[in-house]
Amino acid sequence: MKFELEEYHRNIKDDDLIADLKRVALELNKAAVTRNEQDDRGKFNSATYINRFGSWFGALEKAGLEKTRTPMNLPEEELFQNLEEIWIKLGRQPRYAEIQKPFSKYSVGTYEHRFGTWLKALERFVAYMNNEVNVSSEETLKDRAIEPSTKHKTSRTINWRLRFVVMRHDNFKCKNCGRSPATDPKIILHVDHIKAWSKGGETVLENLQTLCSKCNIGKSDLE
Ligand SMILES: [Zn+2]
Repeated sequence: MKFELEEYHRNIKDDDLIADLKRVALELNKAAVTRNEQDDRGKFNSATYINRFGSWFGALEKAGLEKTRTPMNLPEEELFQNLEEIWIKLGRQPRYAEIQKPFSKYSVGTYEHRFGTWLKALERFVAYMNNEVNVSSEETLKDRAIEPSTKHKTSRTINWRLRFVVMRHDNFKCKNCGRSPATDPKIILHVDHIKAWSKGGETVLENLQTLCSKCNIGKSDLE
């Protein structure tokens, strides 16, 4: 497919875009067309459709073509959790092209479909995670009652949101040795209580740190 500027097709009618998309589907004898297929065979490239209809899935919808078979009722939290896992594995913000199965549980199309664009999905994710910062800081402990059975104000478990917040705070690097999956994909990061929970440490941002699996094993013997 030829390289072309979006401006060139600014005056193309929606109907012509849709007609060409349908033609490609017919040629391929498929119920849906991928962006690559449109770019290879279409008169107009997929970026033109995304600009016009908001997303590739918006274009497919307009053309009455089948979308990805993602259940509509997939909870937002599930999509965020998957994003969190990928972000931690990479040790940095994931890129559009990296959101692919099986590395990601859901395709980037699922995120686009749900949030409009990949960027919007990232923005919603960040807002969701930032909320955790307020919930799990030392400041909020003041008003919390001590649970008699554990003698703690917090539970020992570090939830997935808090885990992410701590790692981001530590720039996805081990606080002990400085290694990160961003520079060495073999590195696996964990979040660890600075003052052990068994010794009265609470599960709050201020008492948590990022350690790699090697440094964490060395430390857990002391707990
Ligand atoms: Zn380490």
